Amino acid sequence: MSGSLYKYNSLSIDAHAETFEHADNEEQLLNSLEDASRLQQSVFLLGGGTNVVFPDKVLSRVIRLCNRGIYLLGSSGDEIHIRANAGENWHQFVLWTIQNKCYGLENLALIPGSVGAAPVQNIGAFGVEVSSFISKVNCIRVASGESITLDEKECRFGYRDSIFKRDEVDSLVIISVDFVLSRIADPVITYPLLIDWINKTESSKTPEDVLDAVVQLRSLRLPDPIQTPNVGSFFKNPIINQSQAAYLQLKFSDLPAHPINENDVKLSAGWLIEHCGWKGYREGSVAVFENHALVLINIGGATGENVLNLAGKIQSSVLDEFGVELEIEPRIVRK
Ligand SMILES: Cc1cc2nc3c(=O)[nH]c(=O)nc-3n(C[C@H](O)[C@H](O)[C@H](O)COP(=O)(O)OP(=O)(O)OC[C@H]3O[C@@H](n4cnc5c(N)ncnc54)[C@H](O)[C@@H]3O)c2cc1C
Repeated sequence: MSGSLYKYNSLSIDAHAETFEHADNEEQLLNSLEDASRLQQSVFLLGGGTNVVFPDKVLSRVIRLCNRGIYLLGSSGDEIHIRANAGENWHQFVLWTIQNKCYGLENLALIPGSVGAAPVQNIGAFGVEVSSFISKVNCIRVASGESITLDEKECRFGYRDSIFKRDEVDSLVIISVDFVLSRIADPVITYPLLIDWINKTESSKTPEDVLDAVVQLRSLRLPDPIQTPNVGSFFKNPIINQSQAAYLQLKFSDLPAHPINENDVKLSAGWLIEHCGWKGYREGSVAVFENHALVLINIGGATGENVLNLAGKIQSSVLDEFGVELEIEPRIVRK
């Protein structure tokens, strides 16, 4: 069946798919993949739609995976092994882990979207990336329906990156993710904003406190997509080498730059964009969010093309001013 994707993407693009289906379980997914193969349709896997930019018309068969379920696989020492199906809501899963005293994911609370998409861009926030807690990703190959399991190494996780964004884009459906969590509460409080908040509120630094702090900080800083359609950060923080960073810091003494290893430095994309004067800028139905220059918002009626036009202008101006290329973070769907 064809269908509107308007309610299924957090940027509220009024896109239309030639074929749009929900798969509640593996059997429905396999049937849908078989139909796609018979009709020679390409397949696009949709989770919560919080990290995609759609064109007006999507020619692929869009399958929204809604399989639910969280399972305790076993434990060894302080480690607990948990499987979550792809269609689970990410934040609800994080709450479930903390309520059940399985620790590790507290910094990743309130990231919108599904469990199945979490490995795709190796979601991260407040100094933690999900890849640190993933042991296996269980998939089905789109072309053959064959089951395949990738271990953490095979996923080739990087900063907002994985094999699912590169070599295996649109060719593997993630049906569930296996996590290794801990019975020991050892929250990561290294991110400056989180440190300040925890100190200010004099909380006891338990995982539950960290989760509360993350939820409050995120609610204050990021627009709620229901009121203000967006896909979170529109650009990745650029990584450049030390010498380029040193050169830029001579010109821009307040440029934030965080060393990530011996050679490379991560810049703040938000700072670069703000410095170029884009914060709060509006062009037709798209704008740069006034409280956070990294977030593009749909003011009402924007198309994917409108959003990408503004994104392109921002990329050009940052390149002109700093010689730094900004890479787009969400998935741009072309067809
Ligand atoms: C307000 C806001 C804040 C955000 N903050 C953060 C943040 O702090 N950190 C962060 O990392 N991200 C953040 N994001 C981005 C987004 O939440 C994550 O990327 C999330 O994992 C996307 O999940 P989703 O289910 O909505 O994926 P979708 O948007 O539906 O899909 C994203 C990509 O994953 C693929 N995909 C989805 N499900 C599957 C599957 N089962 N198998 C194979 N491929 C699949 C899709 O094909 C697509 O390429 C934010 C977004 C918003 C709107």
